[in-house]
Amino acid sequence: MNTAPARRVDRPPATTVPFDVDSVRADFPILARTVHGKPLAFLDSGASAQKPRQVIDAIARCYEAEYANIHRGVYELSAKATEAYEGARARVQRFVNARSASEIVFTKGATEAINLVATSWGGTFLKEGDEVVLSVLEHHANIVPWQLLRERTGIVLKVVPVDDSGAFRLDDYEALVGPRTRLVALTHVSNVLGTVLPVTEIVRIAHAHGARVLLDGAQGIVHRSVDVQAMDVDFYCFSGHKLYGPGGIGVLYGKEALLAAMPPYQGGGDMIERVTFERTTFAPPPARFEAGTPPIAAAVGLHAALDYLATLDATAVAAHEHDLLAYATERLRAHNDVRLYGTASEKAAIVSFTMDGVHPHDVGTILDRAGVAVRVGHHCAQPLMDRFGIAGTVRASFGLYNTREDVDRLIGGLDEVREIFG
Ligand SMILES: *Cc1c(COP(=O)(O)O)cnc(C)c1O
Repeated sequence: MNTAPARRVDRPPATTVPFDVDSVRADFPILARTVHGKPLAFLDSGASAQKPRQVIDAIARCYEAEYANIHRGVYELSAKATEAYEGARARVQRFVNARSASEIVFTKGATEAINLVATSWGGTFLKEGDEVVLSVLEHHANIVPWQLLRERTGIVLKVVPVDDSGAFRLDDYEALVGPRTRLVALTHVSNVLGTVLPVTEIVRIAHAHGARVLLDGAQGIVHRSVDVQAMDVDFYCFSGHKLYGPGGIGVLYGKEALLAAMPPYQGGGDMIERVTFERTTFAPPPARFEAGTPPIAAAVGLHAALDYLATLDATAVAAHEHDLLAYATERLRAHNDVRLYGTASEKAAIVSFTMDGVHPHDVGTILDRAGVAVRVGHHCAQPLMDRFGIAGTVRASFGLYNTREDVDRLIGGLDEVREIFG
């Protein structure tokens, strides 16, 4: 008798079969459409990713067959919808390897998740003179909430610089963290430069000083595998819509003890234990932070997106994205009038550049006419633009459905820019 324990297979084994981008592309209906009569080369997944049929269908199925408001419903449909909503929470828990589903709070996005931590945790536990460490790479979503908190409490914001390649200055960070540091709030991956931050070192140094760590994972969750326990982060947040899921839903992961000590962020239905006009007691997390009717179908869609990603070989996807990054970098570097921003050695599949003598908006408009969708401007990171002395960049951000042909279309579009402005 074979008594060996069954081997758990969570991920497909490393494979030598090439990543089948054509079959992935076939899952994303919008990629079949044309723009200005040209096939679509979608290079703006960093702003919001496209959705696979599996996600679109799951949302439609929810509304067609299993929709009702959740919690407290005694009837079949409400029970099913509650099961689906809480099932999505359990799916997210597994995706980020949280210890418990109660550590997963649904928000409307990364922005709301950061505001929740700033208002509830920061508003309660931080006082005048306490320091919060940010970096110059931050998205406005991880700057402004802390400035609002500074106005209310008198906290002090410290900013870690980057070097000319856009790499996080770990030595400067280490020097900035001190006895007054209460929180380190950093992006996991830069949405402009693609820089991947050295999370292990960041967390180790912060914790050595008794500071908490919040990671803005809006880009990180898309391009890196995330294990919140292995990283030992205190808070991690992201948006569903950048992870091939629907808009309107995001996630705040928080360690159980931290969430348990935090007061509500908003008041309303679903977050209470008992309400009287004299006094109200609150539900434990995560319900405490989910006042009102949540985005039920969006949770179902996010669940479907995570299931979809689980059907793909994560190693092969990472290799595919790395190939796109390397190829795009090489092709852009071949042109003297193109200036690349963000060349750190640890980098996700996002490229930012400017063209000499041409405003990024003009580059974007001409590319659009060629069917190439890129984002131009400051990318909600004006302090980073200031660091490099520019007003904006052209940004191409890659998703798992992009191809080398999309890169060729981008490069071809830049030739058209030169013809017009040259
Ligand atoms: C997009 C983004 C955000 C904000 O996400 P929302 O979905 O708009 O809430 C925050 N941080 C980074 C790094 C981002 O890329």
